[in-house]
Amino acid sequence: MSQRITILPETLTNKIAAGEVVERPASVIKELIENSLDAGATDISVEINAGGRRKICVTDNGHGMSREDALLSLERHATSKIKVDSDLGRILTLGFRGEALPSIASVSRFSLATREAVFPEGTEIIVEGGRVRDVRACGMAPGTVISVEQIFFNLPARLKFMKSAETEVGHVADTVARMSVSRPDVAFTCTSDGRELLRLQRSDLQRRLGQVVGRESFQHLYAVNGRDDYTTVTGFISSPELVRSGTQAIYTYINGRFVRDKVVQHAVMQSYRGVIDRGRYPVVALFIELPPEDVDVNVHPTKHEVRFRRQSVVHDAIQAAVEEVLRSSPWLKSPTVAAQTLNGVTSTAQAYRERIAAAAQASLSLPPPSPNWSQSEKQVGTAPFVPIISQEEITAVSEPAISFRPEQPCQESAGYFSSLSIIGQFHSEYILCQSDSELVIIDQHAASERVAFQLLKQQCHTGGIESQRLLFPETVELSFSEVAVAVKFIPDLARLGFELEPFGGTTIMISAVPRLVAQKNNILLIRDILADLERFGTSTAFNDALESLLSRIACHSVIRGAHLLENVQIKELFYHMDHTDFAASCPHGRPVSHVVTLAELQKIFKRT
Ligand code: ADP
Ligand code: MG
Repeated sequence: MSQRITILPETLTNKIAAGEVVERPASVIKELIENSLDAGATDISVEINAGGRRKICVTDNGHGMSREDALLSLERHATSKIKVDSDLGRILTLGFRGEALPSIASVSRFSLATREAVFPEGTEIIVEGGRVRDVRACGMAPGTVISVEQIFFNLPARLKFMKSAETEVGHVADTVARMSVSRPDVAFTCTSDGRELLRLQRSDLQRRLGQVVGRESFQHLYAVNGRDDYTTVTGFISSPELVRSGTQAIYTYINGRFVRDKVVQHAVMQSYRGVIDRGRYPVVALFIELPPEDVDVNVHPTKHEVRFRRQSVVHDAIQAAVEEVLRSSPWLKSPTVAAQTLNGVTSTAQAYRERIAAAAQASLSLPPPSPNWSQSEKQVGTAPFVPIISQEEITAVSEPAISFRPEQPCQESAGYFSSLSIIGQFHSEYILCQSDSELVIIDQHAASERVAFQLLKQQCHTGGIESQRLLFPETVELSFSEVAVAVKFIPDLARLGFELEPFGGTTIMISAVPRLVAQKNNILLIRDILADLERFGTSTAFNDALESLLSRIACHSVIRGAHLLENVQIKELFYHMDHTDFAASCPHGRPVSHVVTLAELQKIFKRT
């Protein structure tokens, strides 16, 4: 019988493994920096030539290796980081697979020089395409220097896939930046063809991040501090003013390891939903700490992916921590509010939320602070709160059981919006205000939409959205698929305040709608909502579509386009904005306000 199977020689298996670990110069650098960090280095320098294709050199001041260890480190599956089976379940180092050095050495001309501080000299090992060519003593400072020349010289197929030197330089710089953010206590330098790309002194996270994402961006970053029994989520996130068109500035670390994980990314983006536009991504550096035995990092050789034992718990903890910051829109600076929060006193928005919750418990008929620009609720007679009409009309409206009106001053000091002095309205669409030396322009539609959206969300979570029966039920003709969707979601839509009933054939009868939209074009709204539900498809749970539906209702509840406002109505709106979470953007992620500084105006008028 002929023998078909042979065990491959190690030089070949290393080459095969290199295919996974060593994709390009940047992945070599990632592995080498991980090793330096695991070796306790506090100073790491990276030098590349021709984008790393000609040469990569990483020098560290870590604990180095003895001659024996240095030789062993080039063997496959040789590692100092795990010893027994059970260690795999509790990995505290960045490396553990014992694969990087032999893989890199098998596809390049490689040299490793290393010295332990207690010995007067170091060891240098020269390897070519996986074969050790020379081992000799060398004089050097304590630490390790690894040089990788002519990567893929013996893998022509791989060489062909290498991109231009500039592209590779970009990847290298990104890699060093990512790793440097995880360890601000370590100094990093990165030079390319003698040109310095990065020089990062030892510092704290805030400064390190500033150096990496750019100084001008730094002022838009806000600290995150979420902790529970299981997870800690700390770091910095950006305001909606600082966004990117891709995910490149989302730095997330699980127990100190940079990861590009779907769950983590989803949680971050979920928090920003409705705060920034679709297709835009925030700048984020988040450190998620959780018990190491609950994270499996052994999913892929590059260790960029992880698996969580309690995936949804981790997801929700990240989302909650990020939302906590975004909710109060800290970039809308109001000195009093900022000072209050700093002193540990709850912010006005939080106090308001607590009062709303208490009020909702005390009375089932909590009157909504109606943000819809309509006078018609007065005719309905039940709405207690009509902000967008004249002062006389307001006083004529019956007093609500509970109301939060500026005329009833509360103990809290004015929030950002209420502290603005109103200049007037522009084009009946924008409110112009002054705050110190800033001209603040507010999109009244976006603002009122956000108020309506948060109110609907609040109601949804405290017993359901307030519904209003229509005096004359309306019927709407739908397509077959729309009817099917409507019938399927009748109970869910009831939670949103809609009462629908099949009326024979493809007709549906609407007998009640959310109170906020009672006077609006309900047929249009119902069609939009059914189209949304159809688009989300049956695979999406109703709860996942909920926010979009609420934002749809909010959008219909406010008048679009121009609308003249009285000062009192503007104040009313501002009062509500100050008590609304995520007030800096409309539910679709568009900004609510824009600031023009005095300096900017002076520049326009050439006064500087
Ligand atoms: P791993 O990091 O998964 O253990 P590597 O192949 O990357 O595998 O490295 C093998 C071993 O070589 C490491 O476990 C470590 O003991 C040693 N080593 C590698 N790089 C360094 C370094 N820069 N300083 C000190 N020791 C190192
Ligand atoms: Mg390693």
